[in-house]
This record gives sequence, C-alpha cells and structure tokens, in this order.
Amino acid sequence: MKRSHSYMNDLDSNLRQYEINTPQYYLYRDMHQNQTVEFVQKMKDKYKNLSNCKMNIKDVLLELNNFIDPSDPDVDIENSVHAYQTAERIRKKHPNNKELQVVGLIHDLGKILFKLGEPNWAVVGDTYVVGCKFPESIVYYDTLKDNPDYNNKDYNTELGIYKEGCGLERLLISFGHDEYLYQVLLQNKTHKISKKLMKVIRFHSFYPWHTGEAYKQFMNVNDEQILKDVLYFNQFDLYSKEDIDFVLTDEIKEYYDNLLDEYFPEDLQF
Ligand code: FE
Ligand code: FE
Repeated sequence: MKRSHSYMNDLDSNLRQYEINTPQYYLYRDMHQNQTVEFVQKMKDKYKNLSNCKMNIKDVLLELNNFIDPSDPDVDIENSVHAYQTAERIRKKHPNNKELQVVGLIHDLGKILFKLGEPNWAVVGDTYVVGCKFPESIVYYDTLKDNPDYNNKDYNTELGIYKEGCGLERLLISFGHDEYLYQVLLQNKTHKISKKLMKVIRFHSFYPWHTGEAYKQFMNVNDEQILKDVLYFNQFDLYSKEDIDFVLTDEIKEYYDNLLDEYFPEDLQF
C-alpha cells in the first residue's frame, strides 16, 4: 500500500512514499512504540548537559560518512553527502547567503547520536508531539496505537498536557537529531548561527506540523514565522533530479571547510 502525500507537487510526487514492511516501516513502528512522554523527558535529561565529548564540527561531518539514514525512503547515500548536496542546492539559489549554506550543511549533524549508541528510532525520522492526541497526519499512524500513551486520558485529548497557544517551544517533541543539535547550538555560544536558523534546525523533521498542518492549536504569533522559515528550508533538504550528477569535488569541500571555520571558530561540546 502506498501512502502518498498530497502536499508534494507533481515533480516530486515520487518522494516520501511510505510502504508497509519496509525498513522505514519497522523504524517508525519502533519509534511509535517507544517515544512516549516518559521517554522524551528521559532523553532531554540525559543530553541536557552535553557531557559526551568536545568535537570540531568538521569531524562530526566526517563521522556522518558512516551513517545512512534508514528513515528516508529516497536516500541510500551517506549522510555527509546529503549535507553537501543540501548546502549546494542553497548556494545555487543564494550564492551570498553563507549562513543559510552552513545550516544546509550542518542541519543533520545531530545524527551523531548514532555514535553515542542511540537506536535509530531515537535519532532519525519525522517527529511528533507527545503528551497530546496523535494526529492522523503522522506517517504510519496505525503503529501509534501500540504507544503506551495512546490510551492515557491525560495525554490523548486535543490539548493533552499543554495550553492552547502555548507555542511550539513548550511542546515535548519525540527525541531525535533535531532537538539534539538545537541543544548543542543553544549551549555552545562560540558559533555564529542565528536563533532564527537554529529554530529551523529544531523543527525541520516535524512533518506532521510543518507539512501535515497538525498542532495549530499550540501555535503562537512567533511560530508563524518559524513555519515559513522551516518550509523555505525544506525544499533544499529534499532530493531533486540534479542530485544524480552530484560530485563532491575538492573545490566544494574546501569552500565549506572555510565556511565552517568562519562560523565555528572553536570546537563544540556535544
Ligand atoms: Fe534531518
Ligand atoms: Fe536532511
């Protein structure tokens, strides 16, 4: 059975199709069984002090040579290549916006969680809110019926544990690479990435919200701008036909090494 997303335009209508009994299915099934209010709180607590290691951001990028995202039905390339492709799509359209290019390059570096021993279902994939009713726009929604929170009456209402209009930043969202990299950027003060683009990183996998149009009841005035920013960024994160010919040249590598030195002059605590 194919689950096609009506929001894709015709050109890209073959992207992000999710079928049963695929690696994506099993990943989301495990995520949906395990990412509960309790689990998300536990993970936020575990990583809040960033006490794992100090690393240069370029080395984190290199580590992603060893990681292929199992949640994505459209990719079987190393995540580091996806990083350069995303950045290059941005550079083509915005040759002078170096900050946006850097964000394209680093947006998935939170996947370094795989090196810290986290299971894939706590690293990758679309995210969703825990502590309120699961909207049906979540991919593989049916598998959420096995989530222990599904029948909890404190959690399974429209608002759940939240207040109307509380704002996105108040929500507990399933843990993964978005939240982790956001915390790394928030707590390390030596880089030059703006708050605006840090929020794009924080919510880029939040598909049920930014594309499925769920969770409107929690949005506040600031979130409208975040939504615009995330949707703008998203077009560069998706695959396009040009990617088939993509070659990671020394020129490209050097260009981004220089950008990373400029935006991340010091190592970061992870
Ligand atoms: Fe991502
Ligand atoms: Fe990505």
